[in-house]
Amino acid sequence: MALKPKITMKRWKASNEREIIQYWSESETFKFIEDSKKPVYIIDTPPPYVSGRAHLGFAIHYAQIDMIARYYRMQGKNVIFPACADRNGLPVEVKVEQKLNKSMHEMDREEFLQICKRELDIAEENTIQVMKWMGLSCNSFYGSPEIYYQTDSPQYRLNTQRTFLRAWHTGLITHATRPNNWCIDCGTTIADAEIEYTENESFLHEIIFNVENSDETITISTTRPELIPTCELIIYHPTDSRYTDLEGKYALTPLFKKKIPIRKHREADPEFGTGIMMICAFGDKSDVKILREERITNPKTVIDADGRINEVGEKYSGMLVKEAQAAIIEDLKKNGSLIQSTKTLRRVPVCWRSKTPIEIIAMEEYYIKQLEVIPEIKKIVEKMDFFPKSNKIILDNWISTINTDWAISRRRFYGTSIPIWYCSKCQTPNVPKEEELDRYYDAWKEQSPMIKCIKCGKSLKDAQGEVRTFDTWFDSSISELAACNFGEIFFQDKEQQFFEKNFPCSVRPQGKEIVRTWLFYTILRSFHLFKKPPFRQVWISGLVRDPYGGKMSKSEGNSVDPLLFLQPQVIPKNTPKTLRPDKDSWKVIAKLESSPKFSGKQTPNLYYGADSVRLTSCLQGSHGSDIRFSLSKLDGNAKFITKLWNISRFISIFPNEDRPKKLEAVDQWLLASLDALTSRCLNGYAKLDFSVPAENLYNWVWNLFAAHYIELVKSRAYGEENMSKISIQSARYSLHTSLQAILKLLAPIVPFVTEKIFQSLYDPEISIHLENLPQPDNPSTEEQSITEDLLTLDSAIWKAKKDKALSLKEPVSLVFIPKSLENFTNDLKIMHNIVTIKMGEPDNSIEGLITKKNCSLKL
Ligand SMILES: [Zn+2]
Ligand SMILES: [Zn+2]
Repeated sequence: MALKPKITMKRWKASNEREIIQYWSESETFKFIEDSKKPVYIIDTPPPYVSGRAHLGFAIHYAQIDMIARYYRMQGKNVIFPACADRNGLPVEVKVEQKLNKSMHEMDREEFLQICKRELDIAEENTIQVMKWMGLSCNSFYGSPEIYYQTDSPQYRLNTQRTFLRAWHTGLITHATRPNNWCIDCGTTIADAEIEYTENESFLHEIIFNVENSDETITISTTRPELIPTCELIIYHPTDSRYTDLEGKYALTPLFKKKIPIRKHREADPEFGTGIMMICAFGDKSDVKILREERITNPKTVIDADGRINEVGEKYSGMLVKEAQAAIIEDLKKNGSLIQSTKTLRRVPVCWRSKTPIEIIAMEEYYIKQLEVIPEIKKIVEKMDFFPKSNKIILDNWISTINTDWAISRRRFYGTSIPIWYCSKCQTPNVPKEEELDRYYDAWKEQSPMIKCIKCGKSLKDAQGEVRTFDTWFDSSISELAACNFGEIFFQDKEQQFFEKNFPCSVRPQGKEIVRTWLFYTILRSFHLFKKPPFRQVWISGLVRDPYGGKMSKSEGNSVDPLLFLQPQVIPKNTPKTLRPDKDSWKVIAKLESSPKFSGKQTPNLYYGADSVRLTSCLQGSHGSDIRFSLSKLDGNAKFITKLWNISRFISIFPNEDRPKKLEAVDQWLLASLDALTSRCLNGYAKLDFSVPAENLYNWVWNLFAAHYIELVKSRAYGEENMSKISIQSARYSLHTSLQAILKLLAPIVPFVTEKIFQSLYDPEISIHLENLPQPDNPSTEEQSITEDLLTLDSAIWKAKKDKALSLKEPVSLVFIPKSLENFTNDLKIMHNIVTIKMGEPDNSIEGLITKKNCSLKL
């Protein structure tokens, strides 16, 4: 019988991925089976923020989360992997404001929200499609629509409101005027966790203050002279002998002539400027702390929410901060109070979104308790497993710096409405009970579900609903409940049982840049709601960087559109704009590439497909570290997928035979090596570090299986030269057994090509992703040394022939092989066309003997 490859398709193409997505979809491969007996594994998928277009870092991050889902599915778990979209919060508001070139406060709120919604829908189409094309096995893409949630849906928002109500009625919420981070551009309070720092060049001014009732003066260095009108205190370090005689005296501020106490305080830095400092309301968080410690209560601030100087700034009132700063410096110069101004670099806190410098302003906000529960939060954190363990420190460090409660109200529009109604008579805030809130309410425009004021009994018909919304992390921080409950949190019977059985969630996968926000807040909320950790495992990944290690981001101009790799070079005319790749974005990283393929002006064909991108993401760094992405590496890794296809197609020539009674020595060795490989891969998988299986499989398949083993046994597999039936069977069995194991071990990483090969070759009815991962069953201690001996021998023979410019088919007259390869002689003879094989010490008197380590040969 003539042997023909069962896999007929000659080449694997990226476009085949689309057919497989369709197959998964039609066969509902990843649908969550509710009545399955398998243990449930719940992934708290990070709801991607759907503003603008998904970038490559996003695509890679989610593809790796998909590997977690696929790994656990192949470990026999019933996986819940919801798709979701985060749609609340600043980014879309800022985008719409920029587009319309006006502030949302100048617009009709309803109209503004509608524009935001349209903007989000467009962005979501791109985001969700990138997730699908990257091969995400989210249940909701494949027959379980109930596990697709949007954080602005009425259901999700209702959940956010109800968790707030629960917090309110258990006394966790306070309304207070406290100094808060304020972004002038965004017009809202910003949580500490949302602050970033940049180095700004500014001037350090040395300013003279007179000491009251004396001729003495002191010199104070500051970068913020516009805060002089709010100076409340002057401090020096207790050990600073230059100033000890000033204790208890007062200074007068220049220009404003305000009387300020001078005190010693350990936070004064004798090394900074002149060592004596003014404490204002508020230069920074340490000013807030020092004034509180020194019992200076309710200090007046000088900057208003709109970024202008208020009446405290006297003649400078109405000016913008920058204008006031310049005017004050000018006046200080005029009256001789300014000694000098020198350029300096200052670490400035800025808004994460608009990069505007943060001002600290006393604002009335709602707060949820966090400071007093920190010790308990720390205990909960210890109950969770971190992958990698080393990234836990990011969370620990953050928790140790928390010094205020969390301000959860925002003066923005596109967010979940705070369900509070203020009585028109007595101003009492009326907050419904959980069960009174039967649906989501937009408090700013809807009437209260409560009838009467809880305090004075007046009808709440004309009560003013709260106009503020929640901080977006207030809704993000209950995502694990949505994941655990098909999007419903407060429900009856069946769902409640499911929740009680399966909460905490199994894993929270996320990036390290949102540990302070999303991770911390989720833990805090879960503690408040259930006194439990929200999940058992936390998986924290690194960033995607360009080939030189630069952070890939839109603002840096080096972010790449993943659609370049997921869409064909020529795309159909009717493709919507959201799904057309940004054709030029490859150039931003190509300029760092040495490969000539990526140095031209014309767009090379970059349609590598998701498998290549996924494999590259695993091969470029271990889990938790940052990933460097390069086009050359992507190109190289795509070749591995081609190689896998070619190997499989070759093996598909032979029938998949049963295990023979006796395996040939070569095959025994190979299967032992496969076992060792399987163990290494499973160890990596257990740590959710996909770089381990990826690297091991890449090397093994390419450098051992293809290069040596297949070469050794291919004649036997074909059944040449009157070989025994059993030895033919042994080769075929081993080839197929290895290939199946490789495919399964690779499946979570490169789900498309493995699916196609598996179905073409083994079972068209079954998805490889519903199979179990192989387990090692054949441990061997000798396998490693045999492998080394074999590889050395093969290389020595190939090199000897190459050095003489001989074809690899040319005969070798004599080879001395090590004892470990004793049972390999038949296969070695055929592979290298060897006439005589001898064992043991070579006879060095033989003329023309080429001696290498572990092997001597004569051509
Ligand atoms: Zn801002
Ligand atoms: Zn009232």
